[in-house]
Amino acid sequence: MNKKYDVLIIGAGPAGIYLGWELEKKGIRTIIFERDSRTEVGSKMDQFHMDAYTFDEFGVPPPSPETDEYITSFNITNHYSPSGKIVKKMNWPVIAMRFPFFIQRLIKISEADGLQFEFSSRFKCGIFDKNKLIGIVIKKINEEYEYFGRIIVDASGTNAVVRSSLPENYGIETFNINDDEKMYVIQRVIRWLKPDEPHPGTEAKSNTWMYYKNWIAPHFASKANIFGNGQPGGYENVEKANKIFLENIHFPPYEILEEHKATTVYRRSPYSLVGDGFFCIGDSACMTKPFNGEGISLSWIVAKIATDVFIKALKSPNYVSKNELWDINIRYYRDIGAKLAALLAQIPVAANTTKKEMEYLFKKNIIFSGKDFEHMNQYHELHINFGRMIKIIAVFIWGLITQQFSRSTLNSMLKYMKISDKIRKHYEKFPENPEYFNEWVQKAEELWNPVEKMKFILNN
Ligand SMILES: Cc1cc2nc3c(=O)[nH]c(=O)nc-3n(C[C@H](O)[C@H](O)[C@H](O)COP(=O)(O)OP(=O)(O)OC[C@H]3O[C@@H](n4cnc5c(N)ncnc54)[C@H](O)[C@@H]3O)c2cc1C
Repeated sequence: MNKKYDVLIIGAGPAGIYLGWELEKKGIRTIIFERDSRTEVGSKMDQFHMDAYTFDEFGVPPPSPETDEYITSFNITNHYSPSGKIVKKMNWPVIAMRFPFFIQRLIKISEADGLQFEFSSRFKCGIFDKNKLIGIVIKKINEEYEYFGRIIVDASGTNAVVRSSLPENYGIETFNINDDEKMYVIQRVIRWLKPDEPHPGTEAKSNTWMYYKNWIAPHFASKANIFGNGQPGGYENVEKANKIFLENIHFPPYEILEEHKATTVYRRSPYSLVGDGFFCIGDSACMTKPFNGEGISLSWIVAKIATDVFIKALKSPNYVSKNELWDINIRYYRDIGAKLAALLAQIPVAANTTKKEMEYLFKKNIIFSGKDFEHMNQYHELHINFGRMIKIIAVFIWGLITQQFSRSTLNSMLKYMKISDKIRKHYEKFPENPEYFNEWVQKAEELWNPVEKMKFILNN
């Protein structure tokens, strides 16, 4: 068996497969190692959704409606205020799908184009030559195998098995994701006991209640929906939130058919995505959109950038050092990475407002408006020009006068608007040359230090 490749990818999730497929199509010899067996891969979750535009944009055929992978498509998502009385409609086309079938299809499509997979193959450790990563050890049942590649990619999801195993002085942050940097999600499959009566999911197929971080999404079973909640701090908080939610928002009778627990990442990405012979992508690099927790399309954007940079780097016969891969950092962090970092700094403070304050913002169409939700999905930033800023300030002042908004929350929001703006500008100046990286990181640390984490805020 020839165990030398251009690129070794660890993890057959949406990030790893898409990157491997793109590389293989461009003639870069790539192999993916996946811990799970071929039949188990993709079983980490069931229902999920993607923007309908994503498929065309990335050249992935959309799921066919006749298959088990496809659940439904819809354009309108309803966003409800804390009282449930004000609703903002987001007009954004979405396809609801089933993850295991989606992953199996991606594997099939990419295999047809020559991409190789090794299943039931767990990453054990890196192989180094003179402190530089040159290969990996893979454990398959009870046997260990060595594989060598010019670039090793960590696409192993939140465990980040390669990144977190690198030596401390490798120039890559080796952190594991802390408990307070996760959102804990419980998704329940519920069946409506009186399905002919109006219930969430009748008018719009997707509904969210941001204050409670609850949502109703389509499910493939008849008369059923997904009832989801995500909270920081642990699954106990999710249960508390659900109880408070159901005391405040009327749901017609339902029964619970299934329950699934999972966590998603809610923290900044590592300051650098690349090291000598190394690159990390997807959840292993904490790439999720802070406004909705989605990660798949984001990892595909980064995969496109990485493919361009890998092709250039692999042209030379020399070892692929961090410098040859640095352009990935520049292209990601100066553009979409800067926008997402700014939102990550801004969103917790908006989400941590009181019930009354969030109701007021819904009423006044500030942050919680259909147009803002659409803009964030499309451009990954809030749309705040000078005219809108003036309107926002007027709304805040009116909120203070009429006591619908507290001075301390307003001060917090203004403080984090400023910090978020500075973070964005700092990322937009991501250093051209790795020599200036440490200096850049020092300033970035100062900016991130005061940023609030998402909090559990429900108390009534
Ligand atoms: C409940 C929930 C709902 C979500 N809903 C959405 C949604 O609707 N839309 C959306 O875009 N995103 C959603 N996300 C986020 C999305 O699932 C992730 O962002 C995405 O799966 C990340 O892809 P990835 O390839 O980086 O990692 P993963 O999908 O986690 O894949 C990593 C792969 O690496 C493998 N692996 C791990 N360790 C090893 C090892 N040691 N050796 C070899 N292989 C290994 C794993 O088995 C896995 O197959 C959701 C997440 C959760 C938890």
